[in-house]
Amino acid sequence: MQTITRKAYAKINLALDVVRRLENGYHEVRMIMQTVDLYDELTFQKTEGGISLTVDTTAVPADQSNLIYKAATLLLDSAGVTDGVSVHLQKNIPVAAGMAGGSTDAAATLLGLNELFGLHYTKEELKALGVKIGADVPYCIQGGTALAEGIGEILSPLPAPPAAHLLIAKPDIDVSTAFVYRNLHLEAVTKHPDIDGMIAALHAQDLKGITDRLGNVLETVTVPAYPVIAQIKEKMISHGAQGALMSGSGPTVFGIFEREEDAQGAAEEIRTQGLAGQVFVTVFGT
Ligand code: ATP
Repeated sequence: MQTITRKAYAKINLALDVVRRLENGYHEVRMIMQTVDLYDELTFQKTEGGISLTVDTTAVPADQSNLIYKAATLLLDSAGVTDGVSVHLQKNIPVAAGMAGGSTDAAATLLGLNELFGLHYTKEELKALGVKIGADVPYCIQGGTALAEGIGEILSPLPAPPAAHLLIAKPDIDVSTAFVYRNLHLEAVTKHPDIDGMIAALHAQDLKGITDRLGNVLETVTVPAYPVIAQIKEKMISHGAQGALMSGSGPTVFGIFEREEDAQGAAEEIRTQGLAGQVFVTVFGT
């Protein structure tokens, strides 16, 4: 087998809490991660040597700073592979959006090249390599629903939420993760998401218990700085969303709907009012 294709799924955070700032500048977090059915597609082809990358958009770099390049280098070096690979990325996940687009591409690269070169690394071994690239990469290798602790790399699988319709809207603004964490004043955050309550609601398969507990402490930074985030949330709620929240460090907002027509109606209005340039109606992934 010389060529393989892999899907790299995006994630949302049903809940995101920051516990404390660590000495090394990282943050200790507690997050409920959820795969969504929105994905990039990566095609890997064996070559005689070296790593080459093409991307179908100029929105992400196609050079050595791309996390795909870093993941391929790390895996091939660690396994002592002397053959090379050419990778093509079809980018569908919004970029710099809080949906782990880069991390999931890195995860798909580790999984894809493990298969293409018959390396037989276990998922746990790939996660240990992946965390060197980014804190979200181990979760992207695992996928599904999970509690992520530590810097995001300590994972406990959870039951998937009951089926629902998701609306994902990325406004046309760039929000850097570094800006958000730099401006997070933890001591001033009075409302932390009820993560343990959400875990119980997942076990009970109680969609309302989940949507009542959506929460992200990073909104305390982004919502005042970018009012469009609150406007999109309000639009989703007024169209019948059971809950709406910013994902990760933003600026993407997701809404959870029981009825697909309501999600479509909200999508239509968000598009026509120009609140977000990238809008998707989808479902939870596994
Ligand atoms: P997270 O949710 O993990 O914070 P994000 O969705 O906010 O991630 P990404 O889409 O991963 O952010 O992109 C952040 C930056 O990483 C981009 O501006 C881009 O320059 C760089 N990058 C490197 N490789 C990739 C990739 N394969 N896909 C997207 N961005 C990449």
